Amino acid sequence: MSSGAWTNWVGNQSFTPSSIVAPRDEEEVASLVRQAAERGTGVRVAGAGHSFTPVVQTGGTVLDLSALTGVVATDPVARRATALAGTRIRDFYEPLWRVGLALRNQGDIDTQQIAGAVATGTHGSGTRCTSLSGVVRGMRLVTASGEVRDIGEDEPDLLHAAQVSVGMLGVVTQLDLAVTDAYRLREHVSLRSWDDVMEHWDQLVAEHRHFGMFWLPTEESGALYNLDGHGERLQDQCYVKVYDEVGPDVADDDTVGRRVDRCYRIFPMVYDPNFHELEYFVAIEKAPEALQAMRELMLRSLPDSIYPLEVRTVGRDEAFLSSQHGTDTVVISVSGTPGTDYWAYLRSVDALLARFDARVHWGKLHFLTPERLHELYPRADDFIAIRRELDPEGMFLNDHLRPLFA
Ligand SMILES: Cc1cc2nc3c(=O)[nH]c(=O)nc-3n(C[C@H](O)[C@H](O)[C@H](O)COP(=O)(O)OP(=O)(O)OC[C@H]3O[C@@H](n4cnc5c(N)ncnc54)[C@H](O)[C@@H]3O)c2cc1C
Repeated sequence: MSSGAWTNWVGNQSFTPSSIVAPRDEEEVASLVRQAAERGTGVRVAGAGHSFTPVVQTGGTVLDLSALTGVVATDPVARRATALAGTRIRDFYEPLWRVGLALRNQGDIDTQQIAGAVATGTHGSGTRCTSLSGVVRGMRLVTASGEVRDIGEDEPDLLHAAQVSVGMLGVVTQLDLAVTDAYRLREHVSLRSWDDVMEHWDQLVAEHRHFGMFWLPTEESGALYNLDGHGERLQDQCYVKVYDEVGPDVADDDTVGRRVDRCYRIFPMVYDPNFHELEYFVAIEKAPEALQAMRELMLRSLPDSIYPLEVRTVGRDEAFLSSQHGTDTVVISVSGTPGTDYWAYLRSVDALLARFDARVHWGKLHFLTPERLHELYPRADDFIAIRRELDPEGMFLNDHLRPLFA
């Protein structure tokens, strides 16, 4: 056990819990939850601390599950993998590849713990893939009573509540994921004009395994996310990344912008903790209009909007609090510069995307109100009912989540 302040990776969230405890196994997790329940104090789990929102914050106990790590079972026939909650995304790679499997998709970084990534709906890109939450087929959850609950596909409502729970249903100790056969990817990076990308938008979305892009409002924007233009002009250009699966006949290639390799070697990017990110999701059919409006807003907001506009897509799923609940989405992310008052800029992005019924990323800055939660997430009431049943005293809520989900 330790005391002292907890700070997230990017440094914009800091608080002092009563204690930070690192249980060694599920039994210890259950015992710590029971002790907190007896004291009437709160419990939150810290994953790898890569969320920008106050989702770990508590005046009670912070649980650090980094000792609960490892892929504990794989099934190449059923294409399933079981891992302990604290397993980092990058720690899935070798154990899965050895038996001919891989994660179906992943995001821009691989340092998150799987339970942290799943709790907030972490996603990569591509409408053929869901977020990591969408591939969860089961989990073990220590609830407020200290009981261990096995959640599976035979209880679909409970599973869909637990797939994106932002830690509000209890402490996840283990997850079962649907995975896929091991695959290799070819990456193609190019700089393209905004008009060219908009003209070919439908093709980019439909004809590749996945694509993502960064639109760069200024010449300096690329360097903020370590995007190298190799001497080309960057201002008002789109840094477009297209990915397709390749067979064994295509050789590995480490040429920058044309790489071919195992999927997990292609996905991760390098970021510095120099940005505070907001990310919203708009139904895919609204993408061209929403993106055009975002570009115009960002050009008007310069110099507050110097970070790139990141654009990706994600396939639909059924999780109650998922941004992809019932619809494929386009993902729209922008950042404020740490140390500046970026709130007015981010609020103007929120106001603009509200016109497109945008849902939020639970791990990234947002301004969601209870009214909008209920308008935008048709199963929010079902999530809240299950939350109240599993945690009647609200020990897994905090000041950030209580106004939305109490
Ligand atoms: C540089 C960078 C790049 C990113 N790229 C992407 C991206 O490409 N796509 C994307 O969607 N997101 C991305 N994110 C956001 C990130 O994936 C999410 O915020 C994710 O939740 C972080 O995982 P974590 O392990 O750090 O969890 P934390 O931030 O530590 O926790 C997230 C939530 O999960 C809860 N939690 C953690 N473990 C458990 C558990 N065992 N039981 C119950 N609750 C638990 C926590 O209480 C908290 O509510 C990025 C973030 C950064 C900083």
